[in-house]
Amino acid sequence: MFGKGLIKGLQITWKEFWAPKLTVQYPDEQHTVPERFHGRFVLDVDKCIACGLCANACPNKVISLQKQKVGKKQFMTDYVMKVQYCLFCGLCVEACNKDALHFSKDFNMNQYFYKNIPLVLVKREAPAEPLEEEEPAAKAGDKEKPKPKPKAKAQKPAEPAAQPEVAAGKASDKEGQ
Ligand code: SF4
Ligand code: SF4
Repeated sequence: MFGKGLIKGLQITWKEFWAPKLTVQYPDEQHTVPERFHGRFVLDVDKCIACGLCANACPNKVISLQKQKVGKKQFMTDYVMKVQYCLFCGLCVEACNKDALHFSKDFNMNQYFYKNIPLVLVKREAPAEPLEEEEPAAKAGDKEKPKPKPKAKAQKPAEPAAQPEVAAGKASDKEGQ
């Protein structure tokens, strides 16, 4: 009985000694990060509509966002994630119906000071007035679409009215002839 466990342990040590080494000399060497890795969050501000679905989906209340109404649109002014409470579950990313919130492969999110841990993805001032570039383009787009419809409708009744005139003209021509 005595010494049996020792032999077993040495057998495992001998086996592992010759097995391929899995240790990586980080940070000089790094493992390949999988495609679906849940790393640092990335927000595409151009796609985000400040709807707040991601914040509502979060079970730990990690996301806090602030928005301001500019014209008819909501303008995101602040988007902060307290990642120290994050589970990296991905519910917020799934909840985003604009595909604006993503995980990146960046796993190195350590900070020296605690106050630097929250991830500030957006911090900006809202414009005083709606952006001029978007509105005329949107208005022009709106005007272009309904225009053809009234024209098409207006043309149809005009045709039968024109026909009697032409007919009358033809009749008068015939009378004149
Ligand atoms: S990954 Fe999960 S815990 Fe982290 S912010 Fe998104 S919903 Fe909240
Ligand atoms: S759910 Fe998506 S679009 Fe809505 S506030 Fe969050 S990131 Fe922006």
